[in-house]
Amino acid sequence: MSRESNESESSAVGSSGLESPQGAIAFIDGPAIDTDVVIVGAGPVGLFQVFELGLLGLKAHVVDSLPAIGGQCTELYPDKPIYDIPAVPVCTARELIERLEQQIRPFDPVFHPGQEVIEVHRREDGRFHVATSRGTHFRAGAIVIAGGVGSFQPRRLTAPGAERHEGRAIHYRVRNPEAFADRDLLILGGGDSALDWTLALAERARSVVLVHRRPEFRAAPASVARMLELREQGRVDFLEGQVQELIEVDGTLAGASVRSSDGVTRRVGAEQVLVFFGLSPKLGPIANWGLDLSRRSVRVDTEKFQTSVPGIFAVGDINDYPGKKKLILSGFHETALAAFAIAAQLRPGEKQHLQYTTTSPLMQKRLGVVPGADAGEEAPEPRRATG
Ligand code: FAD
Repeated sequence: MSRESNESESSAVGSSGLESPQGAIAFIDGPAIDTDVVIVGAGPVGLFQVFELGLLGLKAHVVDSLPAIGGQCTELYPDKPIYDIPAVPVCTARELIERLEQQIRPFDPVFHPGQEVIEVHRREDGRFHVATSRGTHFRAGAIVIAGGVGSFQPRRLTAPGAERHEGRAIHYRVRNPEAFADRDLLILGGGDSALDWTLALAERARSVVLVHRRPEFRAAPASVARMLELREQGRVDFLEGQVQELIEVDGTLAGASVRSSDGVTRRVGAEQVLVFFGLSPKLGPIANWGLDLSRRSVRVDTEKFQTSVPGIFAVGDINDYPGKKKLILSGFHETALAAFAIAAQLRPGEKQHLQYTTTSPLMQKRLGVVPGADAGEEAPEPRRATG
């Protein structure tokens, strides 16, 4: 997938295009990028939307507030196995994203990382104007919101002074497990992430103390059982309680005082604190685009996955309709129907034939698998038509 490279189109993305969007909102007067569709969100569903649009000959630009593609798969559980992707008995979340990236490559989507889509409005010519927090502007025929749980943020440790150590001694995700080798670790939380990292880092760290406010965990029972086994063996420690204060020595984090449920406050030495309190999802700017919302999701129909605003569609975890299940599988299905609806809206009067990738020379040309085929030629007699 290309990353944006035209500096005149976006003032703030550096040469790597990977910086995170910390700066103030800055608009420039650069030219807007013309495209068929802007996809808001590069999670698995946003990525597959590129594919379904591409099969129908529609080009997409993809914007994500995160610095990398993959949404929850990349951010929350890259190394966990997924078992319910059709025809893929098992792959890790990271592999799923790699495969999707490979699958959409023929359509050459442009990815705009590290910027939030903040503004959407309809132009006089009926197209949409879309603007991001980094001043990238688009003119698009349609918008697909694939924003997942919205702009999600890890729930922060509220102990006084915690923000001072963020990124150096207090972490809300593990990017490089090696950074914690031979260190004294304090891990906070009682869900899968806290337990998984307790087990994984017990092998490498000098010491690991897990702190959770209750004896019950929200993690897989097998992980909890393994943690208790390691505790028996003296390889990890577990404290039921909550961090009250951080302990600093000359400005460097040295541990925390933990108040246990028995009322006793203990000092726990630690060089690094890993916090896994879960995410607080925020719809963010999407809430201000005048769409019908329901339960912090965007309401859509189930024929086109269109929102209450014609031309704006929503797929994946962000949408809501009767019977909605927040699964990757469901999102993939939604992208196919949304793509057909968008093609019908952008090419009115043109029949939308259902073609098979197996047999359609046109689709195979678009996929780049039949170099000699003529993309302009008439598609073969469709086996079925949708409208
Ligand atoms: P997301 O993956 O949430 O991606 C949305 C993206 O949109 C994010 O990157 C976000 O930064 C971006 N975004 C939001 N708002 C904006 C904005 N205004 N501007 C720019 N970018 C924006 N599902 C399964 O089917 N099988 C499983 O086994 C499975 N296991 C899971 C395990 C865990 C631990 C978790 C947390 C989830 C699991 N899921 C599983 C659920 C699955 O990950 C989600 O259904 C899936 O990620 C939804 O994809 P999405 O593309 O709709 O949204």
